[in-house]
Amino acid sequence: MKPKQFVVIGLGRFGSSLAIELMEQGYEVLGIDRDEEVVEDMSELLTHTVVADATDEGVLKSLGVRNFDCGIVAIGDDIQMSILSAILLKELGVGTVVAKAISVLHGRALEKLGVDRVIFPERDMGIRVAHQLVTPNLLDYIELSKDYLVVELTVTDCMDGKTLSELNTRVRYGVTVVAVNKPSGIIVAPTAMDVLHAGDIMVVIGSNENVERFENEVV
Ligand code: ADP
Repeated sequence: MKPKQFVVIGLGRFGSSLAIELMEQGYEVLGIDRDEEVVEDMSELLTHTVVADATDEGVLKSLGVRNFDCGIVAIGDDIQMSILSAILLKELGVGTVVAKAISVLHGRALEKLGVDRVIFPERDMGIRVAHQLVTPNLLDYIELSKDYLVVELTVTDCMDGKTLSELNTRVRYGVTVVAVNKPSGIIVAPTAMDVLHAGDIMVVIGSNENVERFENEVV
């Protein structure tokens, strides 16, 4: 079941954009920050906002934080504050605790505390942008594991008008096209006879090495 209520601790650049996006997707969000001005700026945009120190256990208890499905610790720069808030969210029994880390060591500490998901926004965005810069038709990618990737690529002119059977990606590159997004709609699990057109978006799965080989040959 999808979580419905989120508590976001720290409404800096990362926390505020995450909280606003959750609201736009229809979820309830409680935003907590110790900075009064920050909270005032966000008060109209979130379901509830509170000026509070997230390392104060009594305050978190009185806000009923334990009833939230998911808590996000979006404090980055102040590692001590981030760690203390993460401990409290775990101890209070918040369903899933996600925390932002600013360094590998910070991330390791959060994992050791039992944080369910540690994210490294700056590092991950750096990697993502680098991939997009070297592969101009790459729209997005997801690492399935250390060795496997799913990528979203724009179909280029060199593939225009070709069927998947003509491209023969499985045999030639060891990658599989799992979906094609066309202006007319998305084709999930396309067949060998489906035709690609320039501008369509293809979703491709394969090993890092094979996906990279495919990307380099079809740009
Ligand atoms: P970003 O890089 O995403 O802007 P920052 O680490 O600069 O993240 O901002 C984190 C926010 O967390 C700030 O608005 C700060 O006031 C808030 N914050 C820091 N410590 C606490 C705390 N103990 N309780 C509540 N809010 C906190």
